[in-house]
Parts: sequence; C-alpha cells; structure tokens
Amino acid sequence: MLNIVVCIKQVPDTNEVRLDPKTGTLIREGVPSIMNPDDKAGLEAALRIKDELGAVVRAVSMGPAQADAVLREALAMGADEAYLISDRAFGGADTWATSSTLAAAVSRLPHDIVFTGRQAIDGDTAQVGPQMAEHLGIPNVSYAEEIRVVGDSLIVKRQFESSYQVVRVKMPCLVTALTELNRPRYMTPGGIFSAYREKQVTVWTRPDVPVDDSNIGLKGSPTRVKESFPKPLKGKGEVVTMDAEAEADYLVAKLREKFVI
Ligand SMILES: Cc1cc2nc3c(=O)[nH]c(=O)nc-3n(C[C@H](O)[C@H](O)[C@H](O)COP(=O)(O)OP(=O)(O)OC[C@H]3O[C@@H](n4cnc5c(N)ncnc54)[C@H](O)[C@@H]3O)c2cc1C
Repeated sequence: MLNIVVCIKQVPDTNEVRLDPKTGTLIREGVPSIMNPDDKAGLEAALRIKDELGAVVRAVSMGPAQADAVLREALAMGADEAYLISDRAFGGADTWATSSTLAAAVSRLPHDIVFTGRQAIDGDTAQVGPQMAEHLGIPNVSYAEEIRVVGDSLIVKRQFESSYQVVRVKMPCLVTALTELNRPRYMTPGGIFSAYREKQVTVWTRPDVPVDDSNIGLKGSPTRVKESFPKPLKGKGEVVTMDAEAEADYLVAKLREKFVI
C-alpha cells in the first residue's frame, strides 16, 4: 500500500489581508484562515490515488494550535491521519527552518510520495517544497498539473509558462502541486463528524522532531524580513472613446511618449 504525506499550510484569506502601517507585519486578527489552495490540490491528488489504488494519506502542518482547523478539514476530506508540528521553538521560521522542521517530521512517517503546494499564498516563496526534497534526499518534481502512478514511478505533467514537460520519477519523491491539478472534493457531513469525533490530530512538539536546534525557529533562520509595506496604488487609468483607427493611433502615441516602443 502506498504511503502519501501531504503538507498543508494554514494561510490567511489573502483578499482580506492588510499590513499594519507601523510595524509592517500582517494584521491577522479577525482575518479568516483557509487551507492553502495549492495544498488542497495536493491533498485531492493524494485522495484520488487512494481511491484508485489504495493508500494511507497523512496530512502534516507546522503552525500554531489553530492550524488544527486545516488538519480537521483534511481529515474530513478523507485523509487518514493528521500531524500538527507545533512548538514555540519552531516560531519565526524562514523557509530554511520551515523546510528543515517539516522534512524532519516527514522523515518519521512512511512516504512514497510527499505532496506540497507549489507556493503558499501568504509567504509566496515556492521554496519549501524543493528544500524539503533536498533535506529528505529524494527527487522533486515541481509545478505538477497531472499525475499518474505507474508501477514504482509517477508520470507527472509539469506546467511552464508556454509549454509542458512530462517526466517519469521513481518513488519516493516529492511533488509540488498546482491548483490546476484538479478540483478538490468537498468535505462530507459524515467526514466532518468523523474528523472531530473519531479521528485525532497528533501534536508533535520540539522533542518529537529529529532536527538540529541550529535549523529551527527564528534563531535557525538565515533570512530576516527587513521591511514590508503595501504597494503604492496605481493611477486611475484613462478611458478613451474614439473609432478603432484613432484609438490605435492614440495608443501608439502614448507608448512612444513613454518610450515603450
Ligand atoms: C525572519 C522570518 C520570520 C518569520 N516569521 C514568521 C512567523 O512568525 N509566522 C509566519 O506565519 N510566518 C513567518 N515567516 C514567514 C515564513 O518564513 C514562511 O511563511 C514559511 O517559511 C513558509 O514559506 P512560504 O509561505 O513562502 O511557503 P512556500 O515555499 O511558498 O510554500 C510551498 C509549500 O510548502 C508547504 N508549506 C509551507 N509552509 C508550511 C507549513 N508551515 N506547514 C505545512 N506545509 C507548509 C505547503 O505545502 C506550501 O504550499 C517568517 C519569515 C522570516 C524570514
């Protein structure tokens, strides 16, 4: 039976995120949290493999106690087990410390396939998945848009800006998922009941994760956020109404004026 681990990050619903103008940090209070969309696609891919071939699907999240909610959602969608990696010692992690911690946690779980999202909609770096593969010593296939299990390998269609690539990779491997991979299923009422009444979220704290102190939390983070600020708002734009030929001339003149052409 295949063993699949899906990494799931709880993220603020970014349409509603605002920055504190004084501290430059995200205002998280009162902002609803969701399962990162790419991660939901990774979970759905894992559940489809489970439906087709049989697999044990384990969801893993690193975060504060409230990240329990996304893990319950994963259980309600059909994941078999859930692990929350949570300890103050892991707080303030950059991508290096995040991936070191997550990889160490995943190394404790059987894993033929590890799914992460391509990127988290709040941090947006797209670094954690490939870094985890490196820490785990397994191959990484990024930007997965289609996946098939064939024997001991995966056939993955990777998406680029203007082309595709189909690769075959042996398991164990790590795949970073795109939202285009599938349309995730909804939680079922029975699934929700079972997620809260029957299944458990196992909490792993510092002693449970076999990672060196120098690679975790704020102290183990080689990067620092120096400053963050919202983008200045764009101007209003200009609407012109002329006949098509005059519009084209007007546009070309404007582009020349700005040295675009
Ligand atoms: C000095 C410093 C301090 C920071 N302090 C904080 C802080 O206190 N709180 C905070 O929220 N952020 C903090 N950050 C941001 C933090 O580094 C990133 O959110 C985190 O490292 C993940 O990077 P990303 O969001 O860019 O993930 P990406 O690389 O874009 O994520 C790719 C995929 O990796 C997986 N993944 C990423 N993070 C997790 C996770 N936590 N659990 C499970 N799977 C995951 C998901 O599958 C995700 O789709 C800090 C950053 C720095 C540099």
